[in-house]
Amino acid sequence: MEEKQLEGLSFDIEARIPGKLGRAGTIHTPHGDIKTPAFMCVGTYGEVRFVSMEDLNSICAQTMLSNGYHLRNKSYDIAKDGGLAKWSGWNGPTLTDSGGFQVMSLGSGIGKVVSMERENEVVNAPKKDRLAIVTEEGIQFHDPYTDQDDMIGPKESMDIQNRIGADIHMAFDELTSLADTYEYNKEALARTERWAQVSLDEHKKHRDDLGYRQSLYGVLQGGRWEDLRRSTAKKLGQMDFDGYGLGGAFLKSDLGNILRWCNEELPENKPRHLLGLSRPDDILIGAEMGADTFDCVAPTREARHGRIYTKYGHINIKKFEGSQEVLDPHCDCPVCKAGWTRDQLRSLLKSKNPDDRAKYFNLASIHNLRFTIRLTEEIRQAIIDGRFEEYKDEFMKNYYSYAKNGAADPNRHN
Ligand SMILES: [Zn+2]
Repeated sequence: MEEKQLEGLSFDIEARIPGKLGRAGTIHTPHGDIKTPAFMCVGTYGEVRFVSMEDLNSICAQTMLSNGYHLRNKSYDIAKDGGLAKWSGWNGPTLTDSGGFQVMSLGSGIGKVVSMERENEVVNAPKKDRLAIVTEEGIQFHDPYTDQDDMIGPKESMDIQNRIGADIHMAFDELTSLADTYEYNKEALARTERWAQVSLDEHKKHRDDLGYRQSLYGVLQGGRWEDLRRSTAKKLGQMDFDGYGLGGAFLKSDLGNILRWCNEELPENKPRHLLGLSRPDDILIGAEMGADTFDCVAPTREARHGRIYTKYGHINIKKFEGSQEVLDPHCDCPVCKAGWTRDQLRSLLKSKNPDDRAKYFNLASIHNLRFTIRLTEEIRQAIIDGRFEEYKDEFMKNYYSYAKNGAADPNRHN
């Protein structure tokens, strides 16, 4: 963008799910539009691991999410280059996370969400040394990678994010864990709300520094308690944020309710980002309950570990020795369209040659990202066509029925 554009983002709602909170729309940012619901590819350091910008374009990626905390040391260079979109070569809409989640998870090993199999377990790692200490100014933590003590709070986070210059920033918040009590959540939430105001004030000072308007989302916490979720949504909803991040560590079974409590209170005309979730059922519930955008490292991280998403559930590629079947015959990604077989990918992953493994990481990441992006595209179309419920039922039946029924899955071989 050569022209100066000093308008914040705007959001148009184009269709709704009747009787539900879900909607399809368009977020307009200085670096382009995002058709929602949309999945944001995670490029923590300004690039998606093993995936080129060309690859991202080939799978219709719309946006990239990077991390303020991880890019903090490069933020001056990024500002000099004109902001994240230019610096990274992505040249489309971008978002940065505040870093609050990263420093808190360094501290207590917080998991984002408990999987279906582990629903009864607590995710706060009990034996891990607590490396993060929360104060009114921010979070003090010991960085195990640099072996140094550090501190990040709303002022520091906004400072870093304004230099990085993504189109959308996240206010600095305190993520609580599933092990924390109601009383602690209440206290942490009050702090997150004070930090929201500090974030907003700091952000406004520098949001036009790079020649285009950067926007800020307030982040909602409050654990699994309805009164906390509703009150913070009301409070932050009245503040001058451009949109909202829906945060927290959830039990999977609570996700729908938590989103409903938040989104019933938030202003309708501002976009909402569900932080850090991408399982197909989470995206479907999220979209149904009014989340507009999603992000997660899972599609690429799981791809690297051999987990490939297919129409009929995920498969472990390592178990497909000799399989001449295309990775996912129902997929429209460049890898599947080129006819790569399951055995070919398995061989690359198992190879002792690092170039082969890098090739596998590239192909598998492209496929899993496209699977997740396509899911959001199909949800969008289904909302516009007024058949969201049918689409959701059909998708869930295909993707999850084998696991639920325990029936033999012809696509799984395990
Ligand atoms: Zn594919």
